[in-house]
Amino acid sequence: MAQKTALIVYAHQSDGSFNAAVRDTTVKELSRQGYTAVVSDLYAMNFKASATQDDIIGESKNTQLFQYGEETMHAWEEGRLSDDIVAEQRKVEAAELIIFQFPLYWFSVPAIMKGWFDRVLTQGFAFSLVHMYNNGIFKNKKAMLSFTTGAIQTMFQPDGINGDINVTLWPLQNGTLHFCGFQVLPPQIFWCPAHSSPEMRKGMLDGWTARLGGLLAEKPLTFAPCELFNLNFHSGFLMRPEVKEEQRSRRYGLTTGHHLGKALPPDNQIKSQPQGDDADAQPNTGN
Ligand SMILES: Cc1cc2nc3c(=O)[nH]c(=O)nc-3n(C[C@H](O)[C@H](O)[C@H](O)COP(=O)(O)OP(=O)(O)OC[C@H]3O[C@@H](n4cnc5c(N)ncnc54)[C@H](O)[C@@H]3O)c2cc1C
Repeated sequence: MAQKTALIVYAHQSDGSFNAAVRDTTVKELSRQGYTAVVSDLYAMNFKASATQDDIIGESKNTQLFQYGEETMHAWEEGRLSDDIVAEQRKVEAAELIIFQFPLYWFSVPAIMKGWFDRVLTQGFAFSLVHMYNNGIFKNKKAMLSFTTGAIQTMFQPDGINGDINVTLWPLQNGTLHFCGFQVLPPQIFWCPAHSSPEMRKGMLDGWTARLGGLLAEKPLTFAPCELFNLNFHSGFLMRPEVKEEQRSRRYGLTTGHHLGKALPPDNQIKSQPQGDDADAQPNTGN
């Protein structure tokens, strides 16, 4: 049987950081499980963060107006993307699991990792207007965010000063990972390691090791499937009227983003939907 491959896209400058310790824990545990664990160490690679014309080999199709999305789509089709992008795309193709490991920067990923999203997940390779969300190109792969924060956990509660972490995570998990089809596993959040005791930090790493043991068997997060929407420009890609009607009597919105003006489903972006008795209180997304 072919060996399973996991890709860890890693963004931290220092080998002595807590992020580096998490990365090493991940590689060690996944290797123990028989995975080939590949690390893209973005700072060490000096990975180019900006999406520019240099990412394309040869002439642009449109010499009047350079449009990055269009040009990289053509370049992908014609094998004219720069070597560093192609190398990352090969790693994505080979991986059944991708873990993005990073310190939270401005409620998001560090710029170098955003550059990886911008440059590696090109149209055609990672998505198209036909292949997106649950019909997306990477629907048979799993991906997840694993990150550290400077904030303590309560700061990211719905009544905490930073606001609900579920809202913070929606653009990355829905707009990037799930848009490309990935089944998104619940994130691994290491709250404020810098102000935790050595024992607490060890506990965080041990907890992560234990979670990695059953990671691939975890239920992914819930998103609204494409089938709930009219998938054409004419109807504006809006939710189908009968679905909206069906949702009317429900207590919560569908997801963090598709809240339909109601209360957000609790922890929609950090936990899998509950099963069994508790499921009645949760939205039915049909998947
Ligand atoms: C530009 C920028 C924007 C930011 N935006 C945000 C934001 O929006 N929200 C937010 O919450 N935070 C934000 N931060 C803070 C940032 O997220 C944290 O500083 C970062 O997550 C801490 O992770 P680290 O790996 O750098 O920790 P480190 O400071 O490297 O590590 C913490 C501690 O763990 C120790 N350690 C290392 N290895 C081990 C090991 N093996 N076992 C036990 N302990 C170990 C280290 O020695 C250190 O004492 C921002 C920071 C910057 C620079």
